[in-house]
Amino acid sequence: MGNFLPPSLQAAVPTIMQLSYLVAMVLFILGIKKLSSPDTARKGNQMASLGMLLGVVITLLNKGILTFEFIIAGIVVGGVIGIVAARKVAMTAMPEMVALFNGFGGGASALVAWGSLVMAANPAMLGNQVTVTIGISVFIGSITFTGSVIAYGKLQGMISGNPITFPGQHIFNLLITIAGIAFIGLLTASPSSALFLGILFGLSLLLGILMVIPIGGADMPVVISLLNSMSGLAASATGFVINNNLLIISGALVGAAGFILTTIMCKSMNRKLTNVLFGAFGGEGAAAPEASADRNVNQTSADDVAIQTSYSDKVAIIPGYGLAVAQAQHVLKEVADKLEEKGVEVMYGIHPVAGRMPGHMNVLLAEADVPYDQLYDMDEINREMPSTDVVLIIGANDVVNPAAKTQPDSPIYGMPVINVEEAQRTIIFKRSLSPGFSGIDNELFYADDNQMFFGDAKDSLTKLADELKEL
Ligand code: NDP
Repeated sequence: MGNFLPPSLQAAVPTIMQLSYLVAMVLFILGIKKLSSPDTARKGNQMASLGMLLGVVITLLNKGILTFEFIIAGIVVGGVIGIVAARKVAMTAMPEMVALFNGFGGGASALVAWGSLVMAANPAMLGNQVTVTIGISVFIGSITFTGSVIAYGKLQGMISGNPITFPGQHIFNLLITIAGIAFIGLLTASPSSALFLGILFGLSLLLGILMVIPIGGADMPVVISLLNSMSGLAASATGFVINNNLLIISGALVGAAGFILTTIMCKSMNRKLTNVLFGAFGGEGAAAPEASADRNVNQTSADDVAIQTSYSDKVAIIPGYGLAVAQAQHVLKEVADKLEEKGVEVMYGIHPVAGRMPGHMNVLLAEADVPYDQLYDMDEINREMPSTDVVLIIGANDVVNPAAKTQPDSPIYGMPVINVEEAQRTIIFKRSLSPGFSGIDNELFYADDNQMFFGDAKDSLTKLADELKEL
């Protein structure tokens, strides 16, 4: 960096560097803090991105790795790819994109650690502490890379979403893990050994594949969150290798945040992490249960729903995955506005795992400018249910399924759900009687107080909005 400054300022370079790193760290921490609320999340994201940009530029300049022209070219090329990818990806495909980012992060950490070893003039002089950390970084980073690629493939349908298992798989994985740790030890004893390093890479890449293939496509969002945490740990380890405090801190933040998110997701689904990792639950699109074929449901239509809702005092809306698929958030807001104009109190009940990623519904509704004070979390909306006249369940299924409370043999038994059956009437907007993510039937469809409004959520809500205009 000193080369770009007048000689009088060169003495200040180390201080400028450390101060810039400090600013970047503060930006990361404040950015994460702001992500905790929907109205500050966008700003938090921008602050953390700025911190990352500052960190990258300062590091490249400081190490004399690249000149300004290359840095600017890199920012432009990377920025264009990032902007196009982020703009093109559908909200429902966000977990796939995050999987890819995690994979690249883990792979980059492993490569930087590898580079530090092979480019050292004398690897034996690095010391045990650094070599062990290089081994850990290669191990975790490579597992994250292949694990994330498999997770991406499963979500994209390139690889079967069904659990791919073979006898003795868990023991085999355990043996590879033990072998990987042993090779970290061997590498520390012989840091110049290309063989040990190569075997460590091979074992870690294999372990990433073997760890993720037995997990059903349905559990991939949890796995991705865990891999996100691992990519942070790999980055943090690499920070120790190259003696970079910024990388240590940002990696630790990602590691901790990813792990907290994984825990929240498991808790909201009432699943243990061990059950997700070793339980082989949830393949791709389970078939509709046979029992539903010969049972009667009450069907309704737009004009009828318009009358029922506009003569209500209180209407609760429970959005789910189908709302995201149909991209019906804007027309849903239009319906809510029409009801409010008629004096109806409207509230939205957000289940923590509605949709396919944490915060999925909050993001969708924020996109349609739904006021935050109308969003109720699960406990809050449950308290409102007994006094609610009509609940509109839009493309949601599992998160309102009473089987979670009444059927001990159900895969979702114990998962907290929204008690919609306590309201006077429920109306479900979906295309058929097909099950949701968990692949199980929903007794609510057949309840006397429930009506089904069949069709794509966007079409149905558009018809409802038109009817409400007429009333
Ligand atoms: P579900 O997956 O239970 O149900 C979604 C429903 O949407 C389906 O039954 C489907 O029925 C309907 N649907 C699909 N497309 C449309 C459309 N175009 N118009 C109208 N309806 C449509 O969703 P929920 O949100 O209720 O539950 C989320 C599930 O995902 C939970 O089981 C949760 O555990 C799981 N999960 C959530 C994660 C998260 O972080 N949020 C992560 C991993 C899993 P039909 O085909 O008949 O239209």
